Amino acid sequence: MTTGLTQSDNRHQDTNGKTIPARDVENLKKEIKKLVKERNAVILTHIYQRLEVQDIADHVGDSLALSRFAAKTDADIIVFCGVHFMAETAKLLNPGKTVLLPDLQSGCPMADMISVDDLRAFKAEHKDVPVVCYVNSSADVKAESDSCCTSTNAVQVVESFEEKEIIFVPDKGLGVWVQEQLPDKKLHIYDGFCPTHYQITPKDVFTMRNKYPDAVVVAHPECDPDVWRLADFVGSTSQIYKFVSNHLKQQFIILSEQGLVARMQRDMSHKTIVTTFPLPLCPNMKYHKLESVLNALVNDVNKIEIKPEVFSKAARTITRMFNITESNSFKNNNLWEGPKRQEVIASK
Ligand code: SF4
Repeated sequence: MTTGLTQSDNRHQDTNGKTIPARDVENLKKEIKKLVKERNAVILTHIYQRLEVQDIADHVGDSLALSRFAAKTDADIIVFCGVHFMAETAKLLNPGKTVLLPDLQSGCPMADMISVDDLRAFKAEHKDVPVVCYVNSSADVKAESDSCCTSTNAVQVVESFEEKEIIFVPDKGLGVWVQEQLPDKKLHIYDGFCPTHYQITPKDVFTMRNKYPDAVVVAHPECDPDVWRLADFVGSTSQIYKFVSNHLKQQFIILSEQGLVARMQRDMSHKTIVTTFPLPLCPNMKYHKLESVLNALVNDVNKIEIKPEVFSKAARTITRMFNITESNSFKNNNLWEGPKRQEVIASK
């Protein structure tokens, strides 16, 4: 399956991968904004999405920021431009609202690496050990876990448990990162990973360091530990964005998904921000296009539904995460509202 992407995903494309003329792009954006208003909808867009899909968003952010927006929105319809588990999270936080995923192909291969049966089998190997699941997991897996976490708050969530041993699923890159921050804990880490972040190799990092010897190297913990260990700073998407925007240096090598890199290049055009080659690009994050967003709003398609038998249990693991992240000690330093909202051309 192709997303029609090349080295740059900044071209505007329709759902068949054909380039859309700029004037049609502006018309599509205007139509979407009009419908958003008429239908009392809100568009939440992950920062890995295409830039034009970020442009029509009411909020752009990482998983934690978007979950927080989803929790407090009073819109009737949430159009979620992210991957499936993110839209599920929005639904778990808003049982009475309609949540639409513009293109259902947008799944997360990492989340698909663990089923509820896999988790039950893993739990059987570590009896009576609480489970922390990364938000990149299905509602079924969340329902079988004790708390959820994002890459922004994973250390705080694991630390909040009294138990020394914790099962951590499904991301081993993030799991090893948390383990290194909390040496007094013993994590049993599942063998899942992000194919996009794992595409970056230590050799790629050395190549870029040779090319940009003065650059600061910044990594997402979803990378292979052999990769993030080479970085000067390791952080979640929001932490990377904030670190680069606040840093006095001018050159940065970003070891994370291309969409974040493209957004930072646009927002911080006075800095040199590069990544490795081939581009670490998550094809699943690029399915949503202006046309599919419009189609979802017009036809109410691709509604997210969650099985009643798992709903309340999955919602509980998210609530536990929020109880931790909304505590004062965490709140002061780690909450992020996403990049400063761009003027949406369609609203002019
Ligand atoms: S970047 Fe990785 S973790 Fe994120 S959606 Fe893509 S495959 Fe999943």
